[in-house]
Amino acid sequence: FSTGGREVLVRASVGVATRTDADESAEDLLRDADTAMYAAKSLGKGRIQVFQSGMEQPVRRRLAMRTALEAALERDELFLEYQPIVDMASGAVIGLESLVRWNHPQLGRVMPADFIPLAEEIGLIDQLGEWVLRTACRDVARMTPSGRGGDAPLVSVNVSAHQLGGGVLTRQVAAVLAETGLDPSRLLLELTESTLAAAGQGVELELVGIDRMGVRIALDDFGSGYSSLEYLGRLPIGVLKIDRSLVARIDVERQRQEVLRAVGNVANQLGLTTVVEGVEREEQRQVLLGLGFAKAQGYLFSPPAPLGDALGIEQPAAA
Ligand code: C2E
Ligand code: CA
Ligand code: CA
Repeated sequence: FSTGGREVLVRASVGVATRTDADESAEDLLRDADTAMYAAKSLGKGRIQVFQSGMEQPVRRRLAMRTALEAALERDELFLEYQPIVDMASGAVIGLESLVRWNHPQLGRVMPADFIPLAEEIGLIDQLGEWVLRTACRDVARMTPSGRGGDAPLVSVNVSAHQLGGGVLTRQVAAVLAETGLDPSRLLLELTESTLAAAGQGVELELVGIDRMGVRIALDDFGSGYSSLEYLGRLPIGVLKIDRSLVARIDVERQRQEVLRAVGNVANQLGLTTVVEGVEREEQRQVLLGLGFAKAQGYLFSPPAPLGDALGIEQPAAA
């Protein structure tokens, strides 16, 4: 149906339960149907699923994760690690990407891929995203330029589609900058193309507003999936983060270098700064420098680490 000038599609996931036991109550049946409905959702939505015993296990686990995640923010179980973004020639740390982790009371360290989608689904991502933004800006605002007179590092924060388009991100950024006193030009918001595609209609306006505040915007994971140059021309993007899939084999397959060279040329033409992700080997660093790329992050320089360690790697690069 259409509403507010927009076409809206409604889809349904259906769970079916049949009575197998004469003693089964209406509540039991409804519970089983509900379980089957959650199984249908997790199998890709828009499906019909009939209840089978055993199905309640993953659903129960999910419910437990959900309850635990809701409590995680209050219990201070989330923490940030930082991965340095370095100048490949000198080894100087020029930025820090904040990456969220969850210290789960039973499971231990849980990685973002295993709880960000859940946080999005249960509507907790705005709150979680704001916590990340505030913590990262506060951590980095305290840091002054490094001893050798370099600039104070930038801080990168990953943003979810849910925070974008409706003004939530704008309010969060304005509040956090005011609160922490961080210079807006030291904040870099990272958005992927799928984030942009999934965000609400107001995304373009919102990003223009954020850009006017002096905050920088990066297009993340560029070159993974179906990259389109559309966004680059339309949105105030200043930084292109080149996905590690484009970098993985550049030191062993020469043809792969040409794709990167082309991406580098596009970035130059558009006046974008590039950051190459996922650099793991010295040979890759050499090839990238040869192709004219200056900034990168990856295990070669440092894995994500607590703030102090992430900064501690700042040393002149090995000859
Ligand atoms: P991303 O933004 O692309 O972050 C980079 C990921 O690549 C990190 O995984 C990092 O540990 C990993 N990585 C860094 N260097 C290398 C390397 O040399 N080789 C390889 N193979 N991997 C490398 P991580 O920390 O598991 O984060 C995964 C994703 O979770 C991030 O991908 C980002 O999309 C999302 N994420 C992390 N923190 C947040 C957050 O605070 N908010 C939101 N919305 N998403 C977040
Ligand atoms: Ca990122
Ligand atoms: Ca990335």
